[in-house]
Amino acid sequence: MGEKFKAPRGTLDALPADQPIRRAIEDVARRELELAGYGRIDTPAFEDTELFARGVGASTEVVQKQMFTFTDQGGRSLTLRPEATAAICRAYVEHGMHKLPQPVKVWTSGPMFRHERPQAGRYRQFTQVDAEAIGSDSPLVDAEMIALAWDILEGLKVPGARFSVGSLGSVEARAAYLDELREHLRAHESKLSVEVRERIDLNPLRAFDAADEGTQAVMADAPRLLERLEGADAEHFAEVRAGLDALGVSYEVDPTMVRGLDYYTRTVFEVHADGLGAQSQIGGGGRYDGLVEQLGGPPTPAMGWAFGVDRIALAMAGDVEGGRDKATGPGGVFVVADDDEARARALQVVTTLRRGGVRADLDLAGRSQKGQMKQADRSGADAALVLGAGGGASVRDMRSGEQRDVDPDAYVGELTERPLS
Ligand code: AMP
Repeated sequence: MGEKFKAPRGTLDALPADQPIRRAIEDVARRELELAGYGRIDTPAFEDTELFARGVGASTEVVQKQMFTFTDQGGRSLTLRPEATAAICRAYVEHGMHKLPQPVKVWTSGPMFRHERPQAGRYRQFTQVDAEAIGSDSPLVDAEMIALAWDILEGLKVPGARFSVGSLGSVEARAAYLDELREHLRAHESKLSVEVRERIDLNPLRAFDAADEGTQAVMADAPRLLERLEGADAEHFAEVRAGLDALGVSYEVDPTMVRGLDYYTRTVFEVHADGLGAQSQIGGGGRYDGLVEQLGGPPTPAMGWAFGVDRIALAMAGDVEGGRDKATGPGGVFVVADDDEARARALQVVTTLRRGGVRADLDLAGRSQKGQMKQADRSGADAALVLGAGGGASVRDMRSGEQRDVDPDAYVGELTERPLS
């Protein structure tokens, strides 16, 4: 008899019995994302090593310790993707997607690879569902994306899913803050763990994540980045929060949130769930306004998130019944806004429609009303709902061109009772 093989350390076989729950997670995510106009994108499982070194950030644990890197037969250094964002930005630049209507909204799912210490919920190959909206700095994008994450997890009924939200400010604002934080760390250097001490220059924010008591005591009265937000950064964060409140997303503000990847700017968020022990984070993401340019593209603001399918499956512990049934299909409604006040309302209206199973979208690029109408046409919507100043509205049938005045609430109510298909 030959020697028996085992799956490599830290990897997982997903057997037929495991599939219904994994499929439910993907199906609910796909339905919600496609209702919201996200198109599927697939990129290779490996990329040039340099893409991740530059994209994810040389100071991160992912790049320093966790990459599966190999040299191919042609002598090129390649790396199995540790995450999806850098590769999707590479594709955005490579395929000139900045010429498409912005933001470009895409999603993907597939295996990611990180050489981490294996434990329950932490693997060396794991599956993520990932969504990115590239090309708009509107806080409505942040609110839309976090609300989509919320709706997906609600749809799946993931037990105890908790959202926390923070802001890291722009790169410039952060630089001043980091100097202040370094000063604080140096003033208490003797109490810090060796690891934190070694990273004061490179990545002082990671000190907020440290598990040892000494460092935690020093961090308890460290300056907080959130308290240093000013001007446009503070305004952006306030608008994201207002958007989330209007969409009924519950969250707490976490003033010390640090994400493991370097590219984040402004909004960051995380979702944790019950029953997972140390690996309680089921998803997270944020804005990365500098990354596309860093990867050779034009200056392009963007936002994204990723969820761990394996961890959500663990958190759901076999509850396949969770998962709302939602209508998909083409058509739907494009909501056109007359002015700024109507724009804020437009995201609430599309969210209500999507929650009712109606495909719905809106302009997130600050287009004129005429431009929005054009976008409505291009999107293939059946109808455009035009929200006017002062709460009035009209509906335009995109096929016949007929337009009639409607009461917006009554119109939305009627559609969500009998979704278009
Ligand atoms: P990140 O790309 O680090 O923001 O991670 C996004 C999500 O992917 C996390 O919240 C986890 O749910 C999942 N994830 C990250 N690393 C692992 C891993 N090693 N094993 C399983 N899931 C992971």
